[in-house]
Amino acid sequence: MARPLSVERAEVSAYTVPTDAPEADGTFTWTETTMVLVRIWADGQVGTGWTYGSVATATLIRQTLAPMLIGRPVTDIGRIWPDLRIALRNIGYPGIGSMAVSATDCALWDLKARVLGLPLHRLLGAVRDAVPIYGSGGFTSYDDEQLAAQLAGWVHDDHLTRVKIKIGEAWGTDQDRDLARVRQARDGVGDQGELYVDAIAGYTVAQAVRMSYALDTLDVTWFEEPVSSDDLAGLRRVREGCQADVTAGEYGYSLDYFARMAEAGAVDCLQVDATRCGGISELLRITPLAAAHHLDISGHCAPYQHLAVLAAVPNLRHLEWFHDHVRIEQLFFDGADPPRDSALHPPESVGNGLTWRPDAASPFQVF
Ligand SMILES: [Mg+2]
Repeated sequence: MARPLSVERAEVSAYTVPTDAPEADGTFTWTETTMVLVRIWADGQVGTGWTYGSVATATLIRQTLAPMLIGRPVTDIGRIWPDLRIALRNIGYPGIGSMAVSATDCALWDLKARVLGLPLHRLLGAVRDAVPIYGSGGFTSYDDEQLAAQLAGWVHDDHLTRVKIKIGEAWGTDQDRDLARVRQARDGVGDQGELYVDAIAGYTVAQAVRMSYALDTLDVTWFEEPVSSDDLAGLRRVREGCQADVTAGEYGYSLDYFARMAEAGAVDCLQVDATRCGGISELLRITPLAAAHHLDISGHCAPYQHLAVLAAVPNLRHLEWFHDHVRIEQLFFDGADPPRDSALHPPESVGNGLTWRPDAASPFQVF
């Protein structure tokens, strides 16, 4: 029997890309986004995975995780992952630690698929050929013209039938503008389109319930983080008081986080981010947990990192087509094909189907 192929080299780099306009949501403002990229080599193949976070994530990978990979069999992700996790026990796993493991795990899965000569979604057991997406942006910092242009791009250029905008402006202190922008988004997506909002913890519980009455009149069917995602009882109170689906989970850094959120009855749909939660490996443990609670999952951001694994998730609602990450991933990778029919379609080429473009990325490199 042939000896299993082993990891020969692992490298990490980081790229900071300015936004195309100042961006803000209910509780935060930003002007740039940093991608932390992991590449792992074996037998002439390279696997690629990434997360969006601090350069500190890259430092942690270079110092602690990357050296652990060398010489490990490429097909042994199930044994490598627990070793990565335990290596960060005393460093701090949730947050930057789990994001570091996430990017590394995603690169290992891509490498494994390439070494085996399979498309990644086939290796993972695809159950669908299309992953539905929804347009996501609609920042509170946009003026009416900027919002109109973004909505038109999603609806008319990308042919998306679902869109989401940010509300909860200035910690929930400008409800009138929130509602005016939701009205504009309803006009932009049309009567038949699905309209979602994300308050990013900008409201109080009672305020969120009151807001939901107005959102109902505009047929908003997705109310994301109406209150802090740490307030599971509060999320549940909003959920019981409003018609829209209440959702959260993007700050989930472990299986246990999602277990607590599901058991609390806090949400109608769990949002899972493979670039934060522990990678493809942990996402594949979270989805059956969600299924046992009769919940769908929705992929949070980093669309091309999620495409293959979400094609293998039976209880999938959709994937977030997040403005900032779409820009970066389409710039940095060949093979990041545009959506069709309001969905992304996993490519039948090996691995994740993407090829890194060093010339496009190098002007933004910071690590
Ligand atoms: Mg969100």
